[in-house]
Amino acid sequence: MSASLFSSNIGLIDAVSLRQNLKQWAGTQTQSWCDLSDAALQQRLSTTSHLKRFLEKYCVDRSFREALQSNPGEAIQQAGLAVAIQDVESLWTHQSGTISETLQHFFAFGQERLHWSELRSISAQSSHAKYRAWRSRRIERTQCEMPAIAANLAHVPVCFELSQGCSVGCSFCAISASSLQNNFYYTPENAKLWRSMLQVLQDLLGTAASAGFCYWATDPLDNPDYEQFAAEFHDVLGIFPQTTTAQPTKYPERLRSLLKHSLEKGCKLNRLSILSAKTLDRVYKEFTAEELAFVGIVPQNPEAVVITQFPFKAELAPKINAGRTFGTVRKQPVIDGTIACVSGFLINLVTRSIQLISPCKATPEVPRGYIVYDEETFTDSASLRSICDRMIDQHMS
Ligand code: SF4
Repeated sequence: MSASLFSSNIGLIDAVSLRQNLKQWAGTQTQSWCDLSDAALQQRLSTTSHLKRFLEKYCVDRSFREALQSNPGEAIQQAGLAVAIQDVESLWTHQSGTISETLQHFFAFGQERLHWSELRSISAQSSHAKYRAWRSRRIERTQCEMPAIAANLAHVPVCFELSQGCSVGCSFCAISASSLQNNFYYTPENAKLWRSMLQVLQDLLGTAASAGFCYWATDPLDNPDYEQFAAEFHDVLGIFPQTTTAQPTKYPERLRSLLKHSLEKGCKLNRLSILSAKTLDRVYKEFTAEELAFVGIVPQNPEAVVITQFPFKAELAPKINAGRTFGTVRKQPVIDGTIACVSGFLINLVTRSIQLISPCKATPEVPRGYIVYDEETFTDSASLRSICDRMIDQHMS
């Protein structure tokens, strides 16, 4: 297990940066953390992150859930988790009335850290009236078409692929990513193009462009220069883009450094997709609970459960019926819908292609769960701008 990077750090960053973030994130729980002494803040982060780790293990690992039923003390000890039984036992005794104060704090903290609703509200602030109106109509359509999941769709206005394809090849990939073919590298020429493209998008869409992110049918860590592109995104648009990777143990030092840097820049949430209980254990060996305090764990294994809180109940996590899982899921509950959350421009930097897209319910005709209204290739930032203007005029009037 890795040690904390520096003794003065609380998790990945120092107390000053952590307090700055907590103030910006501004929820009731996080605000109250700001008033704690350094030692108490360290303690609070530690307690919360270990509780988070317990719940992740509970959701991902079926054999851990079974072991808890027979001997909770031993199961917790063997899993190396630092939680008190009395703080978590309501999970398997199903006594919601006796939910511990620690667990209540944790759930409140988790709620405040939900990030997608913020991206959704930033996306709504576009300075472009035609885009704003078009996006509102897309939201109305998805609400009618997919009421069960519509609230989860942020309808962000732009998304960038920094690779062509993805090396991971997840069997559940809801957007059916092709295999990895090439990357957009951070050469001087490409860096110049990237910066000017971000400026074009900012000029076109205003603040809303900062809700974008830099992966789609790609895994961010496939691109060895991802961090430099993300840092430039923050420089130009003011928000460090959130990262989700399904390769959490492939480049541990690189990932640790990315998580640290993004936290220092105020990034509220990054996520690790977990493909199996073994992968989760490897993640836990590599990263301390405190290092992952602000990192979401997204269970993707078939035996994963979700916990409903009141009353506590564990149910098999549903899969979205889209992409490679379309029509193939047998052992899990299935939700018709999509994971596509962009209503706007999907831009691939390798192929220099731009598509105007919006989420829809996946069907045999549209298995990836998004409509492509238009598609073109660009050569530079000026041509990108004129294509965006044309697409807006043609499709959003
Ligand atoms: S789910 Fe993500 S990581 Fe997995 S194949 Fe699809 S794009 Fe790649």
